[in-house]
Amino acid sequence: MTLTRVMAVHAFAYCPRLFYLEEVEEIRLADERVIVGRELHYELENGEKSVFHTFTLESEEWGLKGKLDACRYSNGSWCILEHKRGRSRKGDHGAEAWDSDRLQVTAYAVLLSEHLETQVTEARVRYHADNKSVQIRIGRQEYQELEIAIKDMDILRESTTRPEITPHSKRCIHCSLAPVCLPEEERFQAREDWEPLRLYPKHHDRLTLHVVGHGTQLSKSNNRLVVKPLNDVEESYPIEQVEQVALHGNVQATTQAIHLCFARDVQIHWLGSGGRYLGGSAPGKGGVQRRIRQYEALSDLNFCLERAKELVRAKLRMQLAFMLRATRGKNRNLQLQSNLSQLRVCLQAIPQSKTIEYLRGIEGRGTQAYFDSFNQLILADLPSELHFYGRNRKPPRDAVNALLSFGYQLLYRDIVSAILTVGLEPSFGIMHTARSAAYPLALDIMELFRTPLVDIVVIASLNRRQWNMDMHFHKLGVGIYLNDEGRNQAIALFETRKTETWKHPVLGYSLSYHRLMELEVRLLEKTWMGHPGLFAMWSLR
Ligand code: SF4
Repeated sequence: MTLTRVMAVHAFAYCPRLFYLEEVEEIRLADERVIVGRELHYELENGEKSVFHTFTLESEEWGLKGKLDACRYSNGSWCILEHKRGRSRKGDHGAEAWDSDRLQVTAYAVLLSEHLETQVTEARVRYHADNKSVQIRIGRQEYQELEIAIKDMDILRESTTRPEITPHSKRCIHCSLAPVCLPEEERFQAREDWEPLRLYPKHHDRLTLHVVGHGTQLSKSNNRLVVKPLNDVEESYPIEQVEQVALHGNVQATTQAIHLCFARDVQIHWLGSGGRYLGGSAPGKGGVQRRIRQYEALSDLNFCLERAKELVRAKLRMQLAFMLRATRGKNRNLQLQSNLSQLRVCLQAIPQSKTIEYLRGIEGRGTQAYFDSFNQLILADLPSELHFYGRNRKPPRDAVNALLSFGYQLLYRDIVSAILTVGLEPSFGIMHTARSAAYPLALDIMELFRTPLVDIVVIASLNRRQWNMDMHFHKLGVGIYLNDEGRNQAIALFETRKTETWKHPVLGYSLSYHRLMELEVRLLEKTWMGHPGLFAMWSLR
């Protein structure tokens, strides 16, 4: 029998969706407030007897288990002691306990009553923020409320549908799962006059550790990851500062380093020497409900068609915006004007698409027009080998294609990572099908980011004269590839671009491109949870 944690009872009373995310979908984020709360120290009054701390109790009858903060025996009866960092609720007659805290101490009371074989009818909650203590009598009504809550929680456990967001929007401000739940985005989507509060973090506070260079070793030392290049000094990184590790080419990772990554929920991704994505691994379990919902939604061809239109519209809009921006104030020749017109024609044709195949044709024609003018964005006086003569790949046959292909692989890895972080299945996509080794859903989401995160960076770095054929590239057969130095420079440019912030034109808050990748995956997920309208709505200024 699965026993419900008392903290889950508290979460349920606070917000049923919070309970569902934590207990059913098994999403837990390390939240500073939670950690500090766990370390809260408190003093107990003199003269109290039989006090114990963090005592674990279980009840098969109630289906509950939990750890009491402390309890006290005096004057012939037991009292549950619970400590909260926050404030008490202001009632008509002074300080009151919050409903979620009342339910929590009731759950502790039934556990302690069963353990001691005596009725526990009293609890005291101390709120440290306003230094108030609230006495709670636990009687028949509280027991009934707990019974009803346990039944409702059991029903939710069987459901694959997330409960609605709480109507008490202020609760979301203090909820550790707000960046996963996105309640303000849902409120905004439901009510245009709603001004969404920013609950989604602006930046990733942890880094992506790229391990590059033939013979470089990744190892572990205590709680740090150590990178030791073959002929260079080693550097180490505290594991809590690393979000994911990307291993490029012939580098080695020790088993101990891999174990440390898995133990701390750090994703690991492997890429070939040329940048090709080989595979990745995301620790952790859960996500069954998310995948069931995804399968159900993406099995509906009409649903996929609508999402594919959103993707293609966003992609072509960004290509057009970049072309216009990069050639603003310049003399646009006939070829460029014709390609810009072609992009506009493709954009206008999107709403009439009746099939995904037709839509793919539009996307192909638009992208062809975009790349036909790509070379006009590169400074004319750059060496001819740094110009663009058309898109080619597998292998890339010139420097610009080598840069584009490598950049797209870096982007692909980040998108796979975002999909795994959200807990979706990357193999089940919208408009790409599983014809190659690449994940279709990652290829879909990539369409939103190719221009802003790769194309713009490649063109800008070329025009800043940051690339040199001899220094950064090498030839292998008919292919041109980045060498170690070139890869390091490309990675640095890409990672810097990811950290740049940008204001979402619809949601109105600014966030880094890195954060935006995960946000778009979460907004896509919302489209099949009854809240479409925000996915793929962003564009370049
Ligand atoms: S963010 Fe708000 S709606 Fe979402 S789980 Fe937390 S409290 Fe509930």
